Amino acid sequence: MASDEFIDRAKKIVKEIVPLEISITGIEFEGPVVVIYTQNLEAFAANNDIVRRLAQGLRRRVAIRPDPKILADTERAETEIKHIIPPEAEITDIWFDQETGEVSIEVMSPGVAIGPKGKVLNEIKATIGWAPKIVRTPPIPSKTVGEIRGYLKMISEERKNWLKKVGRKINRDRISGEVYARASLLGGFREVGRSASLISTKDSKVLVDCGVKFASGEDDTPFLSAPEVLPIDSLDAIVITHAHLDHSGILPVLYKYGYDGPVYCTAPTRDLMSLLQLDYIKVAFGEGRKSPYESTHIRDTVKHCIPLPYGNTTDIAPDMRLTLHNAGHILGSAMAHFHIGDGLHNIAITGDIKYEKTWLFNPCTDKFPRLETLIMESTYGGHGDYQPSRREAAQGLKEIISSALATKGHVLIPVFAVGRSQEVMMVIQQLTATKEIPEVPVYLDGMIMEATAIHTAYPEYLNSHLRNQIFQKGENPFLAEIFKRVETGKNREEIVHNPDSCIVLATAGMLNGGPVMEYFKEWCGDANNTIIFVGFQAEGTMGRRVQRGMKELQFSHDGKTISVPIKMRIETVDGFSGHSDRRQLMNFVHNLHPRPERIIIGHGEESKSLEFASAVYKKFNIESRVPFNLETIRMK
Ligand code: ZN
Ligand code: ZN
Repeated sequence: MASDEFIDRAKKIVKEIVPLEISITGIEFEGPVVVIYTQNLEAFAANNDIVRRLAQGLRRRVAIRPDPKILADTERAETEIKHIIPPEAEITDIWFDQETGEVSIEVMSPGVAIGPKGKVLNEIKATIGWAPKIVRTPPIPSKTVGEIRGYLKMISEERKNWLKKVGRKINRDRISGEVYARASLLGGFREVGRSASLISTKDSKVLVDCGVKFASGEDDTPFLSAPEVLPIDSLDAIVITHAHLDHSGILPVLYKYGYDGPVYCTAPTRDLMSLLQLDYIKVAFGEGRKSPYESTHIRDTVKHCIPLPYGNTTDIAPDMRLTLHNAGHILGSAMAHFHIGDGLHNIAITGDIKYEKTWLFNPCTDKFPRLETLIMESTYGGHGDYQPSRREAAQGLKEIISSALATKGHVLIPVFAVGRSQEVMMVIQQLTATKEIPEVPVYLDGMIMEATAIHTAYPEYLNSHLRNQIFQKGENPFLAEIFKRVETGKNREEIVHNPDSCIVLATAGMLNGGPVMEYFKEWCGDANNTIIFVGFQAEGTMGRRVQRGMKELQFSHDGKTISVPIKMRIETVDGFSGHSDRRQLMNFVHNLHPRPERIIIGHGEESKSLEFASAVYKKFNIESRVPFNLETIRMK
């Protein structure tokens, strides 16, 4: 059935289901959603069953929107909103979403803005036609979130037309013939980095993840030139599991080379990945290397993102439905589940997963409606890859910081901007509040504060405990007074030379460049200071060499080579990882429901993936495979 026919048929179905007195003024595709425009929004709201029956009849996600004709123009609407909402609510921002007919009103006190029984909201709706949505002002403003919001507003018309095009493509005719489902492994197998897999059927092609692998010369990229990928615009969709660059770092290259289709990911993944991608090209530039894309391609990526919340099943191709599930790894991280054909096959790709409740997130989900093939990570899948629990990690950190501060030294903690730094911040804040460690300033240098701000912009992605603490009790650990943002180079200079005790959290996490190096150079010669590693140190990085007992640091300054003996205490605290350890990975497979027929293992050093595969086979008698990059596995 062609897409025009689909719309004709949709019109018929809508006519049958919707009562005559409700006027329908238009039906359109918008990306994966069928949008129905009406002048009687209230009638729909009052009768939830109609929407459910429409979705069932159309077999699509359905959105009911107000006919644009009944919406006040945005300037008048803004004036009215400011007039209706009591000043005590303290409006901090208002933005309109033309795509949904929704107006988001950001306020300090949501209760006041909503009014008793939603009275204020109802008045707004009746006056301006727009559906008001009250959003609590995030406690830390994020530059990234603000800029992306502004950009999407600017291009809303253009995006609307593009979404229609995407909708028509999803609803195109299926090809007749024998059905099949395959997975081509394009990167990130028998290695960590450049994750990419292609799911293909007779009708469609979907790429999952498109990461980079850091190398000393030019970085490695997935095998995107493989014949099953090309031409690049033959892809129906791209899905990104999470923002880390080993999953998203090469994505903008596809837009550089003419891909014009959608990227599905969660909203925080969209924001975090553009922050990390911008940093990636900045670092490349700083090191005099050519970056594979420019900032315009990152903007293009944002333009083509279709954000999906967890648990929302969405058609993304004629024969594929996607659902994202919590992966517990970093903010917005997801496992991607695909339902292929009409019950033909179900495959899930884990991305990176944490199967333990952390200070920030709930553990990854282990339940799927159906599951035959699972592609999963094995970063810590080796025989001896056991890690301490979160509690033990906090205890370890406490002991090391206490003894370091007892001798009035400086403590330096190299961190990754996204994920670990927020957890370490929370633990330090707690230890300080309970007086288990002395109170000293904690300086945050690099992108940490911006990444933290994005965390507070998406509270629904944090675990319930932290969400409550921030929004119900008004205690935001990230806003504690001990935390101080390092704003300028001069600021950094002062901290480096200040003899008073302090703790510094700085990027990059493996001592591979970034502001952390300024502190390290200055402090490493003094046995009174301590460096604490809390994250994985990859082979070949300075972090790994220091951990192994490197004796001397050499760097160039004003054209001269300077060497400093390394005397500072070198400590490592395990247990802060965002990855599941061997035990958690095995438990995850054990608890999986339903039990998959086959598990394809990647995202691990070769020996670890092989060890994990053999354990899965022996313990659970599930077919397990460790393919090479470029292998294709027929699943059905
Ligand atoms: Zn990751
Ligand atoms: Zn990864």
